[in-house]
Amino acid sequence: MRVAVPRETAPGERRVALVPEVVQRLAGEGFQVTVERDAGAAAGFTDDAYAEAGADVAEPSAGARGAEAVVRVAPPSAAEAGKLADKVVLIGFLAPLTDTEGIARLSARGVIGFAMESIPRITRAQSMDALSSQATVAGYKAVLLAADRSPKMFPLLMTAAGTVAPARALILGAGVAGLQAIATARRLGAVVSAFDVRSAVQEQVESLGAAFLDLGVRADETAGGYATELTPEQQAEQQHALEERIPEFDIVITTALIPGRPAPRLIPAHAVRKMRAGSVIVDLAAEAGGNCELTQPGAETDADGVTIVGLTNLPSLMAADASRLYARNVQALLQHLAPGGELTLDFADEITGGACVTRPAGATADEERA
Ligand code: NAD
Repeated sequence: MRVAVPRETAPGERRVALVPEVVQRLAGEGFQVTVERDAGAAAGFTDDAYAEAGADVAEPSAGARGAEAVVRVAPPSAAEAGKLADKVVLIGFLAPLTDTEGIARLSARGVIGFAMESIPRITRAQSMDALSSQATVAGYKAVLLAADRSPKMFPLLMTAAGTVAPARALILGAGVAGLQAIATARRLGAVVSAFDVRSAVQEQVESLGAAFLDLGVRADETAGGYATELTPEQQAEQQHALEERIPEFDIVITTALIPGRPAPRLIPAHAVRKMRAGSVIVDLAAEAGGNCELTQPGAETDADGVTIVGLTNLPSLMAADASRLYARNVQALLQHLAPGGELTLDFADEITGGACVTRPAGATADEERA
């Protein structure tokens, strides 16, 4: 099976869908990989490294020619989608719940699209779970950004010049990114508290050495392990409880998300005003509108001395390791869809059917014969 790796063109995107190490593994398993010139450059992977791993390095105009699969990170632009061949397999973060226009475009092209966001979160698909791998990177980077922007050191220090109290960090939302943020903030020496609306999380928070901050609101959990949206009353209750507690913290990292919905609003503007000058909020939900009312997606702002970091796509700021992890996820999905390099699409399979977001009639051998 020939697999093409384009150079990402979305603004600020530094990741690449396959890294040389994974290209080499795929080459030994019936896949032939073509990488567009400079596709890995922004993540630190050279064309020479891809060529040594067994990839063909092609000019952008020729990259996807003859490929049965195109693997990428961000969704293709309208122009890129327009160049995709009929019945080509496309793998990437395709934003199926939010980018209806993009999905319709792929559908009109007859593309067989697999969205990394739609991989079912079942044990068998764990190696393909790119939401988790990238959330891990984002949670780590969020803490580093907070530590960098904060005028306070994280650890307790006892020196001849006196004692420095540890930073106090609050992590809101303790899913994959939040748990990684807790672990990273703890390693840097902060005293960490965390909150999530899913009650199952309390034990995980405590096992990482953080205190569970009970804000008194709980949400149901869906079969997929996600939180359901709070009612407006619960949301007001949560905001109120948080407003009381938030002035205690130097660092607040928010990661609360509901798939396909705007990010829940946890921190209203008046709660930010109660925080001490020098405090930092890193809003990992910025791309979905933000957990803080004052977050400006893509920007870093100052609200009366409180720094609010609303940068989006944090995994892209750690492009090498984010790409390594993502490439492993893509490799696992390719091997699932095309064992031994032979495309065998069984849409009755939970992973194949679950991750597929667009497909033309006749996308399987059986349908073709019918
Ligand atoms: P996510 O990114 O969608 O959400 C992040 C967190 O925000 C979640 O923990 C959610 O409960 C929380 N949240 C939502 N609304 C909130 C609110 N109002 N206040 C505070 N917190 C709020 O979720 P995620 O990190 O991708 O994962 C969620 C769950 O899926 C976790 O239980 C995780 O362990 C599970 N998971 C399972 C698998 C698997 O079984 N293979 C893989 C990955 C994740």
